[in-house]
Amino acid sequence: MANKLRLEGKVAVITGGASGIGEATARLFVEHGAHVVIADIQDELALQVVSSIGSDNVCYRRCDVTDEKQVDETVAFAVQKYGTLDIMFSNAGILGPSGSLLEMDMAVFDRTMAVNTRGAALAVKHAAKVMVAKKIRGSIICTASVESILAGAASLAYIASKHAVLGVVKAAARELGQHGIRVNCVSPFGVATPMVCKSFGADAADIEAIICGNANLKGVSLTTMHIAEAALFLASDESAYISAHNLAIDGGLSSIMKINV
Ligand code: NAD
Repeated sequence: MANKLRLEGKVAVITGGASGIGEATARLFVEHGAHVVIADIQDELALQVVSSIGSDNVCYRRCDVTDEKQVDETVAFAVQKYGTLDIMFSNAGILGPSGSLLEMDMAVFDRTMAVNTRGAALAVKHAAKVMVAKKIRGSIICTASVESILAGAASLAYIASKHAVLGVVKAAARELGQHGIRVNCVSPFGVATPMVCKSFGADAADIEAIICGNANLKGVSLTTMHIAEAALFLASDESAYISAHNLAIDGGLSSIMKINV
């Protein structure tokens, strides 16, 4: 248990909270005193997460982030269940197969944009509507990626979708600042979550070896908890004057071009 409850009494919705980064963040937010609604499409997994957290302060609501009605209803559910909405962590995402743009399947492109970018825009929109109406000086956080800054290893669709998430965040931060609402991104490098393992068709150990080989910062492996801690900082009052920021959790990778001389 943390020494200080940094989200005591706050209410958060976490999309993609059934697995990986979202799951770690749900655990950490509850540990810090928040009430959390996990919004996902994997019912069984999400209910296992809720049960393993084992607190009345967390529950599950099925929500496909590409569906505006479901996002709207999920936000309304959080307000009805816990009384308000202080934090939206828009984190649900898909990676999809890598591969050349010359063979790009536009159905995969459309689906990636729908989940990653439209999903983020909907989460931001519906959280903001409640926060503005209720005069809540909330914090909205989206999970982008290092692929929102550079073109690393993922497909064109994923890179485009994550660059667009950064656009969603900046535009929303510009409009919502007048209401005291902050909007930021976390941009992780690589973690061997189910999304990444499935996309590369490899197991966690192999993925971790590839990630370690490409990391700038050696001697430490990025975990989902590092990203959850960054989301906690952006959700808490400790980041009260930070908005429109893209917080890279990448060991410096996206700011560095190494040249061996
Ligand atoms: P993950 O697969 O463990 O979790 C993603 C979650 O999103 C899953 O629970 C999944 O069910 C949910 N989801 C997918 N489509 C959805 C939809 N339409 N509606 C609601 N929920 C949906 O993967 P993760 O790595 O934890 O990914 C979380 C976020 O982090 C994603 O946005 C991803 O792009 C981003 N990210 C991950 C990495 C990494 O290396 N793992 C790096 C950079 C960014």
